[in-house]
Amino acid sequence: MKEPDLKIKPIKNGTVIDHITANKSLYVLNILGLPSEEAKDLTVAMNVSSHEMGRKDILKIENRELNTHEVDQIALIAPDATINIVRDYGIVQKEKVQLNKELTGIIKCTNPKCISNEQFEPIQSKFTVINKSPAELRCKYCERIIKSKDIDLQFQN
Ligand code: ZN
Repeated sequence: MKEPDLKIKPIKNGTVIDHITANKSLYVLNILGLPSEEAKDLTVAMNVSSHEMGRKDILKIENRELNTHEVDQIALIAPDATINIVRDYGIVQKEKVQLNKELTGIIKCTNPKCISNEQFEPIQSKFTVINKSPAELRCKYCERIIKSKDIDLQFQN
């Protein structure tokens, strides 16, 4: 017996984030502040089969485009994600996320004594990316290494 295809309605305008690491789409939603009252026609496909990746997640978000800050954060947890900008049902731009060599103010250092966690005069966190997939970062101030599981935890909240 053949299983029926799950057809996902195409969106008119908005963003399709494809090739998200399997089961990471909830983190991506969290980064984007979704779901929200205003976001209509939000589609989440989790753990679907993929030629390139084996398994992947897909997000379709009507009427929403992403800013650089959001893309930087997505690159941390889904390094293979592609961002497709959709206008009038057509893809007008397709781009793989790029993790910058340096990340400023995006995640917190896990070292409580780090100068970037100073309670009264905190300064913006700064990390050097030492590995992209899975993500591994080094704090510019205290040299602490942050691994992808630490990053996942931060995006859960
Ligand atoms: Zn630090």
